[in-house]
Amino acid sequence: MRPLLEAEGLRHRVGGFGLEVARFQVFPGEILAVLGPSGSGKTTLLRLLSGLLPLQAGRVEGGLRAYLPQNPPLLRRSVLENAAFGLYLKGVPRKEARKRAEALLSRVGLKDKARQPAHLLSGGEAVRLALARTLLVEPEVLLLDEPTASLDPGNTAQIEALLREAAGEGRGVVLATHDLFQARRLAHRVLFLYLGEAVEEAPAERFFQAPKDPRSRAFLEGRL
Ligand code: ADP
Ligand code: MG
Repeated sequence: MRPLLEAEGLRHRVGGFGLEVARFQVFPGEILAVLGPSGSGKTTLLRLLSGLLPLQAGRVEGGLRAYLPQNPPLLRRSVLENAAFGLYLKGVPRKEARKRAEALLSRVGLKDKARQPAHLLSGGEAVRLALARTLLVEPEVLLLDEPTASLDPGNTAQIEALLREAAGEGRGVVLATHDLFQARRLAHRVLFLYLGEAVEEAPAERFFQAPKDPRSRAFLEGRL
């Protein structure tokens, strides 16, 4: 199977920090968890893969990517206008964009809030709106930066269901998280980063049952 996104020879320095990832691939229908404690380079990697951060070395190739930052900014407009915004930018006519946005808001459980100002949404609702807006542009690869970090279990479960659905539609899902339980629930494959180094990459089951690197073991046992 051909990867939807492929990177090679990534090296990136900011201040005293250096990230190095020799090879990175995401396949259709796959949820790949990028694991690592705070400061290990997850956000930097996602931003490099998204194209938001100019590459210092290496190459990234692949299809349409959508990046969901950790605290996605919402416009001071209605929920519906926020959802439709990405389609307006793509030149989709307003009526058609609103129609598609409404359908997606139903899917993320926000149909009843479509006319409300987006800034009145709860944290969980705001993340669902941001995810809806991201899904509307039909990306081949989703790059999600700790989307459920501050959410309650109910909202977390809803977001996780949407990510499974996205993978089920054949998209590639790259999920940065330090939540091991979430990675166990969702991930097919795991990339473990530590201090900017791609320490271990493995099928999720193998990684959780028999991590090979001592740093992976330490992370899984809560010692990093
Ligand atoms: P993670 O998302 O895993 O917490 P990050 O990619 O955000 O890790 O950060 C990795 C390291 O790079 C951290 O030590 C962070 O302080 C540093 N860093 C990230 N961006 C910058 C920047 N623009 N300037 C200086 N240091 C940065
Ligand atoms: Mg981060």
